[in-house]
Amino acid sequence: MNAPAELVFIKQHLIDPEICIRCNTCEAICPVQAITHDSRNYVVDAEKCNWCNDCISPCPTGSIDNYRTMPRIKAYSLAEQLTWDELPAELSAAERQALAGDSAGEPRPEPAAEPVAQADTTGQSAFNSAAFGATVPPWSAAHAYTNLYGPKAAQKTVTATVVGNVRVTEVGKQAGHDYDTHHIVLDFGSMPFPVLEGQSIGIIPPGADDKGRPHHARQYSIASPRNGERPGYNNLSLTIKRVLEDHQGQPVRGVASNFM
Ligand SMILES: Cc1cc2nc3c(=O)[nH]c(=O)nc-3n(C[C@H](O)[C@H](O)[C@H](O)COP(=O)(O)OP(=O)(O)OC[C@H]3O[C@@H](n4cnc5c(N)ncnc54)[C@H](O)[C@@H]3O)c2cc1C
Ligand code: SF4
Ligand code: SF4
Repeated sequence: MNAPAELVFIKQHLIDPEICIRCNTCEAICPVQAITHDSRNYVVDAEKCNWCNDCISPCPTGSIDNYRTMPRIKAYSLAEQLTWDELPAELSAAERQALAGDSAGEPRPEPAAEPVAQADTTGQSAFNSAAFGATVPPWSAAHAYTNLYGPKAAQKTVTATVVGNVRVTEVGKQAGHDYDTHHIVLDFGSMPFPVLEGQSIGIIPPGADDKGRPHHARQYSIASPRNGERPGYNNLSLTIKRVLEDHQGQPVRGVASNFM
């Protein structure tokens, strides 16, 4: 027997707006166009998402790997998600029941089983990277620290000092475009900031966006080795291209790249 609509609970797939860097990767990848965005947030349509997980691995921040158990008919709408500055807390079972009961007329018992990812219909088996030894680092491999600092309340951000800023592209237009790229050295003083080659850091530009909210973080790849530009100093370098045109070629001044 099928459960009444108000008793169907889903694991609603959501994007953490505090961590998302608005890179558009997930929206470009989603095979059912479940992901959309406005000038601020990337959001997932619960009506369209089929839990195929195609967007999980390509997301550079992990912000898309978030779920909340919700009554299907009370799933967070796109309009709600677009207003979020942070993800809502997971509701308790009692709160979920009450929410479902709003529509059912009275609270009902929550079903034990929740829907899981739908079966693969492509006929291809999923790629299991863990089955390949090469993905397991040797015992001696350096351990990468991630998310030591961040915008979440439990974390804290770090302010670095720019101690080097060298333009690495020629001045003037090249092939009709300005390419203004800088090698920038950041010093963290006495604040521990361990990094490994291949990691990137998030920069939060000062000020607010057009809705008056703090700018979201932009990601920049670390361009120096793990011991920095100058051994013995607590620094790292970035190579940043100033964004002067949008993807359509219209003049624009990218917030973070121009700040840096
Ligand atoms: C993992 C990762 C590592 C990265 N590493 C680097 C790095 O090492 N160096 C670096 O310069 N950037 C790097 N980026 C890109 C960087 O995070 C920013 O997206 C970029 O600097 C634009 O930010 P902005 O605030 O200046 O522009 P925004 O204010 O965010 O954007 C302004 C406008 O420009 C458009 N736009 C954004 N980026 C580009 C672009 N590249 N070309 C054309 N139009 C654009 C936007 O759609 C928007 O319309 C990295 C991104 C990721 C995800
Ligand atoms: S899980 Fe699949 S359907 Fe859902 S948002 Fe990600 S790519 Fe789209
Ligand atoms: S950071 Fe992740 S969730 Fe945000 S737009 Fe990029 S791929 Fe999507």
